[in-house]
Amino acid sequence: MSSGKLQYYGSKILRNRSREIEISSEQEFTRSLLTDMLEILRIEKGLGLAAPQAGENVRVFILNPVELNLKGHSVFINPEVTTSGPMGKDEEGCLSIPGIYEYIRRPMNAVVTAYDLSGEQFTLDIDNYTARAVQHENDHLDGILFVDRLTPIRKRLVRKQLSEIKREYGPHSRIL
Ligand SMILES: [Zn+2]
Repeated sequence: MSSGKLQYYGSKILRNRSREIEISSEQEFTRSLLTDMLEILRIEKGLGLAAPQAGENVRVFILNPVELNLKGHSVFINPEVTTSGPMGKDEEGCLSIPGIYEYIRRPMNAVVTAYDLSGEQFTLDIDNYTARAVQHENDHLDGILFVDRLTPIRKRLVRKQLSEIKREYGPHSRIL
C-alpha cells in the first residue's frame, strides 16, 4: 500500500489531516510503513520523519533517538502532544522542503504520549530541541509544515524557493 517515496512540498498528502492507526488490527501495515520510513530517514540522513512524508496519511512519526533526548524511544504511533512553557526560537528544516532552514518560534516544553511498535503506551516529558522536533513531526500529522509558522515577512522571502521546490519535485510538476 505504502508508496514509500519521500513526498515534497506541493504534494497533497502533506496537507491532509492524518487518521489514527488501529493499534491491534494494523500491526502488519504499521510495521511495513515503519520499514519504509526508517529507510527514507537513513538515506536522507534526517532527524525525523512523519508518515505523510512517506506517502501515508496516518498518525505515525519517527525520530532519531541518538540525536534527541527521547529515553530510547524512536517510534510514535497515535501521538498526543501537549505544549507548555516559554516560547523559544531555533532553526528547523524538513526533508520535504529541501534547502530551506528557518528560525521558528515554538513552546519549549512538551509532554508526548504515544504507542510504540509493540502496542505499549508511553509518556515523555521533553524540552528544548527534542520538544521542538516532536512538535514539528506532530504538525505533519495535521497537514502543517514548518514554513506555515514563519512570520509573514520571512514567508514572503522563501516563497520563490517554495515554488521552485514544488516545480522541481511536485507530483504535478509542469516541465515546459
Ligand atoms: Zn518535516
